[in-house]
Amino acid sequence: MKNILLISTGGTLASSQAETGLRPGIGGNSIAERLNGLIRDAQIDVKELFLLDSSNIQPEEWSELAACIHQYRKQYDGIVVIHGTDTMAYTAAALSFALQNIEIPVVLTGSQVSIENTIADATENCRAALHMAASGCPGIFVAFNRKIITGTRASKTRTRSFDAFESIDFPYAARINSRGLVLNPRISHERKGICELRSKFCTDIFVLKLFPGISPDIFRLLKEAGIRGVYVEGFGIGGLPFLRRNIAGAIQEAVRDGMVVVIGSQCLYEGSDYTVYEVGREALGSGAIAIGNMTTEAAVAKLMWAFGQYDDPAMVREIMTVNLLDEMGAPVPDLTE
Ligand code: ASP
Repeated sequence: MKNILLISTGGTLASSQAETGLRPGIGGNSIAERLNGLIRDAQIDVKELFLLDSSNIQPEEWSELAACIHQYRKQYDGIVVIHGTDTMAYTAAALSFALQNIEIPVVLTGSQVSIENTIADATENCRAALHMAASGCPGIFVAFNRKIITGTRASKTRTRSFDAFESIDFPYAARINSRGLVLNPRISHERKGICELRSKFCTDIFVLKLFPGISPDIFRLLKEAGIRGVYVEGFGIGGLPFLRRNIAGAIQEAVRDGMVVVIGSQCLYEGSDYTVYEVGREALGSGAIAIGNMTTEAAVAKLMWAFGQYDDPAMVREIMTVNLLDEMGAPVPDLTE
């Protein structure tokens, strides 16, 4: 018999139509009742943590959720977190950093349509999440549309379709097909130590999506606003303007002033390599840290987490260059098809 904890936080899966619009109103116990029979030989306990649309789930909720998972992890074989889809990838990345070396599977899931609609995607996604939670494969994951995604690699790529999440530049951790739940044996789940709760996040960061014509003054304004770390989404494989509006120069000044600037790409797939073009090398020369193929969600969560752990920007810089949880680096083969 597997013991699974279902933590509910809200989202569309838990929503009903109100006069003010679709909003979370279905609690965890009511969700669990509807999941009867989706998994055999399992006891499901429920913890109702929040009843929020995930637009309202922020670093304070990440910390509370991480603490709850940390507290209960030894009593369960796996944990399923019901979560809105809109910011689920951010939460999954944040939990990955906060709960490194977790001993059990923690699987976030949600749906595009409320669980009140029995033919839609909620039941199917919960079935996948429950089976992954019972798999014995530790880590933080997202379960959606019969695919299981490593927590630092998930991104919501569609607003309406059931196939709303993708694993970016990384194979699926598992898939559900005619062979059942097929785990990718090449995804490393090796634990490197004990699971310490490190759930402090610092929100003094910013995501800057470049566009042609952007003023370099933005870095000065960010500094004045107390921003300590900036993730710059540059162009293509890696480029920033330096003619007329010298963004590379502005980054150099910001870095000199102690700001941590990390650079990636606006493109969702195939990552960045700032060594290819002159417009990229300028940026590297300015002291920015290239983060390759990290998703924006993982970059945001990691920057907030790193500043939550370390006050010294040099430490944050160092953390941002290290691949902690498969959030960056060369992909491993997909053996789940
Ligand atoms: N707005 C909802 C949320 O993220 C969307 C969903 O769950 O699909 O909470």
